[in-house]
Amino acid sequence: MADNIEKVKCLIIGSGPAGYTAAIYAARANMAPILYQGMQPGGQLTTTNEVENYPGYPDGITGPEMMIELQKQSERFGTDVRDGWVTKVDFSGPVHKVWVNETTEIHCDTVIISTGATAKYLGLPSEQKYLNLGGGVSACAVCDGFFYRNQEVVLVGAGDSAAEEAHYLSKLCKKVTMLVRRDAFRASKIMEARVRNTENIEILFNTETDEVLGDGQVVTGVRAKNKVTGEKFDIPATGFFVAIGHKPNTDIFKDYLELDETGYIIKTPGTAKTNVEGVFVSGDAADHVYRQAITAAGTGCMAALDAERYLASKEVHEENEVA
Ligand code: NDP
Repeated sequence: MADNIEKVKCLIIGSGPAGYTAAIYAARANMAPILYQGMQPGGQLTTTNEVENYPGYPDGITGPEMMIELQKQSERFGTDVRDGWVTKVDFSGPVHKVWVNETTEIHCDTVIISTGATAKYLGLPSEQKYLNLGGGVSACAVCDGFFYRNQEVVLVGAGDSAAEEAHYLSKLCKKVTMLVRRDAFRASKIMEARVRNTENIEILFNTETDEVLGDGQVVTGVRAKNKVTGEKFDIPATGFFVAIGHKPNTDIFKDYLELDETGYIIKTPGTAKTNVEGVFVSGDAADHVYRQAITAAGTGCMAALDAERYLASKEVHEENEVA
C-alpha cells in the first residue's frame, strides 16, 4: 500500500445542492467531510439564471450565487472543499477506495455520491449560444417556466419528461409548440393523452429544430423543419425548452452499484443507501422524477444522516468485538 493514501471518514463526490447539503450535515456531525467538486463546481444550477423556487430566498437568487452560499455554509462547519475529479472507485472490499484525477488514492469509511445528472441538449450552435447567454434556452420547465408567463414557447421531446413539461408550461404560457421528431410519442399513453387534450399545446410530428432564432441576446423564435416534406418554417417564441432526457453521471460506479437501465443509482426506498454498505447516494444521480434543487438538498441531508448512523453502528460493533 502506498504511504500517501489518505484516510477519510466521509467523502462526498459532487458539488450541487445535494453534495453541499450532505457536507453541512456531515460536518456538523463531526465526520470531517472532504468534498470533491468535480468538473462543474456547483453542478447544474450554475447554468440556471434565476432560482425563485428554493425556500428562503423571497427575492430569488442566481444559481451560481446560491452555490457559493451553500459552499460557504458547508465550509463554515469544517468541510474540506477541493478541486478534483473522481476518476475511479473500488467498492469491492470493506474499505471504499476512490481515486481523484487518476492519481490520488483515498480510503473512505463512507462515500456520499452526489454526482448529479446532465441534461441532454440538441447540440445546435444557436441553442448553445442562447443557453450560454441565459437568453431563453432551458432544460427545466419547472425551474424556468415562470419567466415565460403569457408568452409563446417551443418545447422539444416526446417522452414522459417532455409531456410533463409541456403540460406544466401550458398552464403558464399562452402557447406551447411541441416538436416531436418521429410520428409518435415515446411518452406513456396517459401522458400523451394529457398533452393532446390540452388546448394551448400544438404538437408538430416529424418535426426537428433547424435553428434557434434570436436577436443576439434573447430567443425570438425557432426555425423548424418538417422531416417528411423538407419544408422549413419559423415559429415565434421567447423560450426554447429541451426535454430529450438526462444522463446520470454514474459511469464510474457501474461495476459496483446497482443502476437502472438509464444509469440512475438504485437506492433502498426511503433511505439514501445503495447496495454497497457505507456508500450512499443523493440528488439527481438517483432521481429521474423530481430533479429539483430542494429535493436534491433533502436527499443530501438523508445521505449524511444515513452515513452518520452507519458509522455509529460500526463503532458499536467494533467496541463489542474488542470487549
Ligand atoms: P426519454 O428517453 O424517455 O425520452 C426522450 C425523448 O426525447 C424521446 O421522445 C426522444 O425521441 C426525444 N429525443 C431524443 N433526442 C432527440 C433529439 N436529438 N431531437 C429531438 N428529440 C429527441 O427521456 P425522458 O426524460 O422523457 O424520461 C426518462 C425516464 O424517466 C423514462 O423512463 C420516463 O418514463 C421517466 N419519467 C417518468 C415520469 C413520470 O412518470 N411522471 C416523468 C418524467 C420521466 P424518440 O422517441 O424519437 O427517441
